[in-house]
Amino acid sequence: MTQRSPSPSASIPVTKQLTNHISGKRPTPGFKTSFKQRLNSCAKLAAIVIAGLGLGSCAEPISQQVIDRPDKPNVVATSTMLWDLTDRVGGDEIDLVGILRPGADPHIYEPVPRDIVAIEAAELIFYNGYNLEPALIKLITASGINAEKIALGELVEPLDFDYQGKTAPDPHVWGSARNAIVMVEAIREYLTELSPEDAALFAQNADQLIAELKQLDQWITVQIATIPESQRYLVTTHDAFQYYAVAYDIPVAGTLIGISTEEQPSAQTVKNLSDTIKELGVPTIFAESTINPALIKTVAAEAGVNLAEQKLYSDSIGSLDSEANSYVMMLVVNTRTIVNGLGGNYENFEPSEQ
Ligand SMILES: [Zn+2]
Repeated sequence: MTQRSPSPSASIPVTKQLTNHISGKRPTPGFKTSFKQRLNSCAKLAAIVIAGLGLGSCAEPISQQVIDRPDKPNVVATSTMLWDLTDRVGGDEIDLVGILRPGADPHIYEPVPRDIVAIEAAELIFYNGYNLEPALIKLITASGINAEKIALGELVEPLDFDYQGKTAPDPHVWGSARNAIVMVEAIREYLTELSPEDAALFAQNADQLIAELKQLDQWITVQIATIPESQRYLVTTHDAFQYYAVAYDIPVAGTLIGISTEEQPSAQTVKNLSDTIKELGVPTIFAESTINPALIKTVAAEAGVNLAEQKLYSDSIGSLDSEANSYVMMLVVNTRTIVNGLGGNYENFEPSEQ
């Protein structure tokens, strides 16, 4: 059974983690490619001509490579949140590759050769869907990719948003821990289908994770409720917190840009947002870890309010040497940042063992 405390690697450098994984500890997203897979892929890659992308990954020293048992099923997860949840359920029984690195922005991410290698070798691919990671979705759903492909985010009933006169589903479903439970149940189901002999282990890992997510959901509700109602508004850079807002009763007062980070805000948008902040009396607004904070700083200055020192983790977990290095800790750190910024009282998250 895989057991991890909520923040198992807060002080372990990434290189140490890679070494650890060889002896059965946790992998690092994006880094994990088996030796056999790498040999195959370098031969395949030589035949793929992608202008400007280069083939540097084949030349990495052997000490950077992770060697695994060759008979484990190859599983790919696109976002860092899905990578973490899949890692918790699959543990050491699967060969898991995370495509996005912590801190990368899924909306604008362009696949690199090592992603193609991983996706070609996969038997099962978990992706978010609802157009969170458009370039990766295009690659995954292209003809010739034989893996089973599951859009885990699309198992969640979406909140819709209007964009250029059309309604579209909001992809940021992981904002609610209840939605994460839906995705974990599906991860367990598809991993079990892929590797039935590990069914009991996957069930045990999933049950433990779901118990933790239920406690997390309850804990966030309690923490957010400590914020005085007159100040209980979220203002962030991009519109990634609607599921969090609905689940935990903290309305999004405004954002600088919409659902996708490709947009550029106009001067009028900056002015309107700072007017809204002043009108509502919101004391603190928030930058995000995956987006340049320059413009939201301008908004804070114009509205005369605080910009929280700690950025919110919107579309990625934190780096593996940060406190927010897992899905659960991403929500914990975000909630703490929001509660502290808006005048609530924060208690530690201490999930009980099941
Ligand atoms: Zn986003």
